[in-house]
Amino acid sequence: MKQDSAPGRVIPVMLPMPAERPYSYAVPDGATVAPGAILRVPLGPREVAGVAWDGDGEPVAPGKLRQISEIFDCPPLSAEMRRFIEWVAGYTLSPPGMVARMALRAPAAFDPEPPVEGLRLTGREPDRMTAARERVLALAADGQAWTRSGLAHAAGVSLSVIDGLMAQGVFERTEIPPRPVVPPPDTAFVRPELTPDQQAAADRLRERVSAGGFGVTLLDGVTGSGKTEVYFEAVAAALERGKQVLILLPEIALTQAFLERFHDRFGAKPAEWHSDLAPKKRERVWRQVAEGQVRVVAGARSALFLPFRELGLIVVDEEHDPAYKQEDRVFYNARDMSVVRGHIGNFPVVLASATPSIESRVNADQGRYQRIVLPARFADAAMPELAAIDMRRSPPERGGFLSPVLIEAIERTLARKEQALLFLNRRGYAPLTLCRVCGHRFQCPNCSSWLVEHRFRHQLVCHHCGHNEPQPEACPECGALDHLVPCGPGVERIAEEVDRHFPAARTIVLSSDLMGGVKRLRLELEAIAKGEADIVVGTQLVAKGHNFPSMTLVGVVDADLGLANGDPRAAERTFQLLSQVTGRAGRSGKKSFGLLQTYQPEHPVMRALVSGDAETFYEREIAERERAGLPPFGRLASIIVSAATRSEAENHARALRRAAPAAAEIDILGPAEAPLALVAGRHRFRLLVHGSRRADLQAYLRQMISTAERPRGSVRVQVDIDPQSF
Ligand code: ADP
Ligand code: ZN
Repeated sequence: MKQDSAPGRVIPVMLPMPAERPYSYAVPDGATVAPGAILRVPLGPREVAGVAWDGDGEPVAPGKLRQISEIFDCPPLSAEMRRFIEWVAGYTLSPPGMVARMALRAPAAFDPEPPVEGLRLTGREPDRMTAARERVLALAADGQAWTRSGLAHAAGVSLSVIDGLMAQGVFERTEIPPRPVVPPPDTAFVRPELTPDQQAAADRLRERVSAGGFGVTLLDGVTGSGKTEVYFEAVAAALERGKQVLILLPEIALTQAFLERFHDRFGAKPAEWHSDLAPKKRERVWRQVAEGQVRVVAGARSALFLPFRELGLIVVDEEHDPAYKQEDRVFYNARDMSVVRGHIGNFPVVLASATPSIESRVNADQGRYQRIVLPARFADAAMPELAAIDMRRSPPERGGFLSPVLIEAIERTLARKEQALLFLNRRGYAPLTLCRVCGHRFQCPNCSSWLVEHRFRHQLVCHHCGHNEPQPEACPECGALDHLVPCGPGVERIAEEVDRHFPAARTIVLSSDLMGGVKRLRLELEAIAKGEADIVVGTQLVAKGHNFPSMTLVGVVDADLGLANGDPRAAERTFQLLSQVTGRAGRSGKKSFGLLQTYQPEHPVMRALVSGDAETFYEREIAERERAGLPPFGRLASIIVSAATRSEAENHARALRRAAPAAAEIDILGPAEAPLALVAGRHRFRLLVHGSRRADLQAYLRQMISTAERPRGSVRVQVDIDPQSF
């Protein structure tokens, strides 16, 4: 039995698991452990990494108290970061351990990277000189350390030459410290020449950052106005104050061009952080962010949980983008949590977008955020001329999806040797396959959704659970052969139609399921930027951030697609997505066009896009949200109850509803079947909790969940605060 459980010798340790509180551990004799220290502790039969926490740990019987196994030689997680983790946990109703887990996602980085063994000149002369030896000595003459193989390789000699010099004492062994993942940025590398509008915006941002302290700025400027150039000045100001900077981007793995632009301005790339990073690189970035060697990170939403030691600015680019919402384990919006992080760290946050979220616009209108507007595109680049194609008047030919008006526009674009982009936010060939004889529809066996035909892969695929089966030849219901028909278009089908009309054109299909993954996508995007394609058919992947200089036509195949689902955010999302995708056109000064195929040209979204009058659209949307008490004028949470059987899910959802306390400012809708009633074999019911702006939704939900019986068997409850769709 351990006797050493005297007060002060037991500390709380936050573990990366669904625990509400840190666990208690004994500090080894003679050791000191400050809050934030990263530790290895025993847990059951295993050992896990955790963080020394503040406050009290779970009480533990003295005989059961276990001892910390190891204190890692690693910078501690800052007090700011620990408070942030607790705040996110409280807001999202997640166990703090699960939030802490996101900050500990680089286990090998807790130990310092071992130095590499290297060689350095001693000043001794070799017994005799050869040409090979001369080359080696010339390279090493500046006194820098080399690795044995690196030096041999650089000098073009065999390893035995190096070993020979070693043996004579010409070189001595030395340790080469771990190389930084990126060199430090130089804020004076290239000072950009900004337009007067840009300069004014940059000055205000610089002032804001130099003043220090918390505050949010909404940088609102049309696509191509130079928002990136402008917020780089905020980045420079923060770096000049000795701060670290985080830039969040929605599709970092695909925005290599962004890294290049950063390099052009600062003479070095930022460190990248996203899920496609090689594990080794990941570890090094994590460690060097903690040590302060990395000054700027450009990352996906998870970068928010990196262990910065002196973070002084967060920029959230494309702040409206739905990719900032994580809907897995801890449900959080990285845009909103960036603002919280800035508040806790007392530093400024910049939100940039050409089409700000309604939330951010309202925050700016009401004076909570500063708003800076960039009204025009850089240089002479005009915005694309947008028009709606009324599909009722110029319908596609039988079996096709492209209106003659759009086909003609493509033809003209190709004749000018420019590029066209056809945008359709649907992967695969056709979203539904049915049998012409008996009407059978191919449905996913595990989900309430149709199977999507992927013709390139000869498969029917479920986009919700990944289930796939070979493309059938006969109907499984009636056995009819060759009577299966694809219904509706996906990008593959549009590409087929394009090929029929323009057989000589070079057509590229781009969607996230492209064989070859991110690497292949990057190559394709580069090829498009270099003009190696004439027509691109793509999903929203192509909408984000890319600069395609000779793209002068964007055709939206189905502009109504996102409006159909009855979600109150549908109009906002469609407006944002279509603005962004049409914004790919005309970025280098050539006259450019955007054509929207729609059956409802009079819809406010189409009108706003065609007229370029975003203000009227925002005013209307904001007024509508206010009238309905929807976010940001009210608060929403969605509770999804799922289970292996429909009745289990429904029963528990009802039990939760019965446990709901009475509250004047909060009402509950449901339970009802969730919009996707079956996903991956789990039945889903949903409760929507709607409150006024002042309502304490979290307290209400906590009470409701703790009053109801605990979920049993296969039942799971997921709480989503500020859901994306409702
Ligand atoms: P946004 O982020 O608002 O879409 P960008 O910052 O990407 O705009 O700028 C659009 C294009 O214009 C980029 O190619 C950028 O390099 C160029 N650009 C913008 N401002 C300037 C400037 N002041 N000097 C040179 N190039 C600029
Ligand atoms: Zn499925």
